[in-house]
Amino acid sequence: PLTPPPDIEIARSVQPLSILLLAQQRFGLPAESLVPFGHYKAKLDMAYVDTSDKAPRGKLVLVTAMTPTPAGEGKTTTSVGLNDGLNRLGLSSSVCLREPSLGPCFGMKGGAAGGGWAQVIPMEDINLHFNGDFHAITTAHNLLASLIDNHIHWGNEARLDPRLVSWRRVLDLTDRSLRNLVCGLGGKAHGVPRETGFDITVSSEIMAILCLAEGRADLRQRLSNMIIGRRADDSPVTVGDLGMEGALSVLLKDALQPNLVQSLEHNPVFIHGGPFANIAHGCNSVTATRAALALNDVVVTEAGFGADLGAEKFIDIKCRHSGLRPDAAVLVCTIRALKMQGGASRSRLSAPDLAALRAGSVNLERHIRNLQLFGLTPVVCINRFPGDTEEETTLIKTICQHLGVRAVSGDHWASGGDGATELAQAVLDQLSADEPGVRLLYEDSLPLADKIETIAERIYHADRVEYTAAAKRQLREYEAMGYGHLPVCIAKTQYSFSADPALLGAPSGHTLPVREVRLAAGAGFVVVVCGDIMTMPGLPRRPAALDIGLDENGLVVGLT
Ligand code: ADP
Ligand code: MG
Repeated sequence: PLTPPPDIEIARSVQPLSILLLAQQRFGLPAESLVPFGHYKAKLDMAYVDTSDKAPRGKLVLVTAMTPTPAGEGKTTTSVGLNDGLNRLGLSSSVCLREPSLGPCFGMKGGAAGGGWAQVIPMEDINLHFNGDFHAITTAHNLLASLIDNHIHWGNEARLDPRLVSWRRVLDLTDRSLRNLVCGLGGKAHGVPRETGFDITVSSEIMAILCLAEGRADLRQRLSNMIIGRRADDSPVTVGDLGMEGALSVLLKDALQPNLVQSLEHNPVFIHGGPFANIAHGCNSVTATRAALALNDVVVTEAGFGADLGAEKFIDIKCRHSGLRPDAAVLVCTIRALKMQGGASRSRLSAPDLAALRAGSVNLERHIRNLQLFGLTPVVCINRFPGDTEEETTLIKTICQHLGVRAVSGDHWASGGDGATELAQAVLDQLSADEPGVRLLYEDSLPLADKIETIAERIYHADRVEYTAAAKRQLREYEAMGYGHLPVCIAKTQYSFSADPALLGAPSGHTLPVREVRLAAGAGFVVVVCGDIMTMPGLPRRPAALDIGLDENGLVVGLT
């Protein structure tokens, strides 16, 4: 088969529509309701969108996935393709996605605006500076850091212990040299020395807050609730204690508005907010989802990582906080990921192997059963890759039939919305059936440790949870401080149901090791760290940056 053109060439082969025109034609929104950034991107002024209706107009479709390979199984690509498919069937539909982080585009990850003929444009803008939201978050985060150091410098009225300041600095780059630093060196005039470091912007608590905030007042309240450090007696100091939330909310006032762009097929796409899927909840903003639901019959949205992490957090964190509920779910799988889960070696994932495929289907089954725990029976989408054979696809469809779920092939990567009409029809059938009656996995009132154990047992099929002494103490402390009602946000590998990336398939009887627990009092969840989680990634030996540049016409090349 012919090698398809790179994503950026496909993306550039389509002339986008004026975004003002698109908003007017699709949503009847007047030009003044949009804040344009150039011709093809805009922010939506929420004053023009009526989201007061508690029962929103649109139905919400969650796109999640089986346990992925390191290359990703195509949740974003499928979300974009499904939305194009739904629009082809004549529905008013939009898709809501996370904003990509700039730094990793220059490392090895590539962009995150879909792939092939299921992409969002202008992809180079979306993947790089976009409409400035990450800049705003980075600046707000670092303003707070500078205010904290300044507070200590001028007498430290709040009695913060410089050794216990937990608020670090952020940058939207992947730079391992900045992970651990000492700031305030140079003598008395240059601040108080203390240990600190940088994280990547998407891991900022402000990012998670922006994505969960219901509006300006809620944003301000959540900023004010953030804990930035402690006193020598261990009592917490919040942003509100220092009176710094007003300044932060000023820097974030525009970033709170959702961004509107379009797919290659000129269908509306909301891209807004991009929290990490490990130490945060990994979903686009509540404001974007609400706006899209107010303007459409159907809204497709993606949650990060596999369903054990992404879907669980989507429901137990985003839905719990906002009151939103999905009406249907799509579980993306690929033949290569199934083979990997069935034990095929990484180098042989493109060779036909029905035995590995069959063995790997236990992973898919576990994800299906997990989604059913939430009350959602998913449509399985087999995201078709160029080397997949008919036999392999048929086998997965037969297995799904035995499991009692509908499976369809999706060919959106190769042929856009046209390749996703069967998927779109299957989703519509699901939406016109009875309402699913979605359930959260646990009650707010359950103690934090019981929440962790509920997820470990019911979703991961672990036998037990093992806590370090520090983690145990932190859990007790957060309960005593009055944060026991918060949901938990598990940070573990996305490559296994367990915390060990080498345990493939559908492992059970394993132990979930909890190393550390962090309180995100502003975002409103307790982060449970299981294993090594990097909040400032590094670059690979040969970064993608070496292939990225401008051609003689000033166009970006090498961005994947
Ligand atoms: P996720 O959102 O699950 O991380 P993406 O949709 O970003 O996954 O896709 C990951 C990568 O795989 C992207 O580079 C995308 O272009 C590519 N991809 C997705 N679907 C297909 C497909 N059907 N065939 C070939 N490549 C694909
Ligand atoms: Mg994605």
